[in-house]
Amino acid sequence: MVKKRVIPGDFLSTEEEFEPGQNAFIEEGSIRSDSIGTVVENTEHRTISVEKTKNVIPIKKGDIVFGEVGLVRDSSVILYLSTVEADHTKKVLSVTRASLPIRMVSRDYVKHLKELFKIGDLVKAKIAFVAPYGIDVRTDEPELGVIRAFCAKCRKPLQLFGSQLKCLGCGDTGGRKFSTEYSLK
Ligand SMILES: [Zn+2]
Repeated sequence: MVKKRVIPGDFLSTEEEFEPGQNAFIEEGSIRSDSIGTVVENTEHRTISVEKTKNVIPIKKGDIVFGEVGLVRDSSVILYLSTVEADHTKKVLSVTRASLPIRMVSRDYVKHLKELFKIGDLVKAKIAFVAPYGIDVRTDEPELGVIRAFCAKCRKPLQLFGSQLKCLGCGDTGGRKFSTEYSLK
């Protein structure tokens, strides 16, 4: 049987089905994980718990992380984190999700997140806080933001010219909250 991997905040079960065991908590009728690990169901005692994964690189406030945009909502961007920058080296992180709330995107006023981030963009962000229900990141510093973006029309990487991103394939332009470290200049 393949063990189901979970991260903090993930839904495990309803309260009717199970009681929360180790590393699990109840929120509005749902049992959720407070740790990174694998799900353990005990049908005899009707408990569901999470066995913590060992050797996971702990994430803390202020860490620089890299992730891919998975979803752009009206109020936040969902990132799938891949690596964390620690001790001046990039370490692989157990894949996890983070939320980038609209108020933490930029020092400038942001009206529409969909104009600044697109699914598949690679983003450099900083951990803003780590809570049992999830991780929030911020990009409101010049070196934070999109470091690689792809054309919405032809999916080729966009190149940065001054303050504008342009596709060399089809000439389309794309707006982003890009980082000063944008990869293709
Ligand atoms: Zn293009």
